[in-house]
Amino acid sequence: MDKDAIFISTSIPYVNGVPHVGFAWELVLADVLARYHRARGRRVWFCTGTDDNSLKNVRAAELEGTPTAPFVQARGERFEALCRALGLSNDDFLRTAFDPRHAPAVEAIWRACDARGDIHARSYQGAYCVGCEQFFAPHELAGGRCPEHDTELERVDEQNAFFRLSRHQAGIDALLGDGALRIWPDAYRAESYGWVRAGLVDFSISRSVERARGWGISVPGDPGQIVYVWFDALVNYISSLGYATDTARFDAGWEQAARRIHVIGKNVTRFHCVYWPAILESAGLRPPSDVVVHGFLTVDGRKIGKSLGNGVDPFALVERFGAERLRHYLLARFPLGSDGDFSIPGLVHASNDALADQLGNLQNRLLVLLEQNAEGRVPEQAEGELEPLAREAAARAGAELERCDPHAAIGEVFAFVRAVNLALARSEPWRLARRLRDEPDPAVREAARERLLRLLGDAARALLWAGGLLEPFLPEAAARIAGAFGAPLPSVYGDPGDWGQLIAGAQVERGPVLFERLAPVEPDSGALR
Ligand SMILES: [Zn+2]
Repeated sequence: MDKDAIFISTSIPYVNGVPHVGFAWELVLADVLARYHRARGRRVWFCTGTDDNSLKNVRAAELEGTPTAPFVQARGERFEALCRALGLSNDDFLRTAFDPRHAPAVEAIWRACDARGDIHARSYQGAYCVGCEQFFAPHELAGGRCPEHDTELERVDEQNAFFRLSRHQAGIDALLGDGALRIWPDAYRAESYGWVRAGLVDFSISRSVERARGWGISVPGDPGQIVYVWFDALVNYISSLGYATDTARFDAGWEQAARRIHVIGKNVTRFHCVYWPAILESAGLRPPSDVVVHGFLTVDGRKIGKSLGNGVDPFALVERFGAERLRHYLLARFPLGSDGDFSIPGLVHASNDALADQLGNLQNRLLVLLEQNAEGRVPEQAEGELEPLAREAAARAGAELERCDPHAAIGEVFAFVRAVNLALARSEPWRLARRLRDEPDPAVREAARERLLRLLGDAARALLWAGGLLEPFLPEAAARIAGAFGAPLPSVYGDPGDWGQLIAGAQVERGPVLFERLAPVEPDSGALR
């Protein structure tokens, strides 16, 4: 095993809709984990992309009167653009219909499962929801309709290939039971366990070419069948690493990796915690090590939906507030695994409170004090009072990120920023500065000067440290903090370096305020529309 190799993915969305803020949340969660592990000097492969081969996409293209391929291509570009808008650090963006790495991987894993005797043909009747791309058993239906979409289900009656999930009962049971597959938060492990305990049932992994409208990857050796979209989509994680196209790379990036982390929404836990590990087990490959589950966002108390017209365009949010304010709100406001309600007044409030009043104000106040009292330089001397707090904050935030919890981790970072502000306020540097000007006794004046420089030296080191802490969450703000000191960002996670060595004596540059206060927005002001 290679303890420094880390794989991180988001789920891949269907492209029939436009990206909404709930998916932006998922992208940002994964990005924080990727940046954190890189900050620890680990080799990270962070991939995302689009699920192109879904029947939903075909239907949406038909509705628009467009051929499927150009429709899917154009829609997929919006999702790739969202990664850039959010400042993501993804290494790969894989589109399952167009990427030359993907189909060979799907075919290879199909053949591997088949060789294990885990694929068999069976005639099949069932109730299918195109919205979910999923079959439902009669007892799972809500009055004969899809429990998620409340739509009429499609009756399907055809010969399909089935995956023998039932043969992997013991394997998945052990995987969930012994903690080899960690699910965050743990409540979702219980849910997956429930499915396993209820008994795993074989599931369909192909459909007829007619039903698939000829769109998707053909079943190896059976051109009349198309690979079922989940069996196809899940494989994107390993096609990104070159499974079946670059064996050495795949081996290093997946099989040998210390962690294989999937960040997903709570509606696809069954696929990621049960089906996917079983497919991998069948193919003789390693299971994921971590599945990180986020809940659903409502917007102003209502479910996000295209038909409701309240999807909240993340591009518009980035344009209005900047990527960093959006990242901060999504990370700081919503606990992992829980549902939350997104609102513009909430974003503005969180931004003013943490980014403007705490972080921005700390930087601004401190740089002004340095300009006025230390010739704009970071003092060589430092009190050292904040150093233990800083190291503790890094240890705590790092531990939360090892537990795949960016929400808890950013809480630790801002608790540190608040503590620095509080320490600065308590030591009253402005009073010392006044004494420096007004005190007639030179000995008292010199003592005040010495004390003031030590305080400011300490606070400057603490601010740069906060920049290091913030890099996974708010990379732009972190870079600007470092820029103010003309220093690189310190490495604070894992094996942190010396306290303040980087900037002793450095000339500071104030520049524009990190985060301005925003005018408060009243609830129900129609700001989202
Ligand atoms: Zn449905």
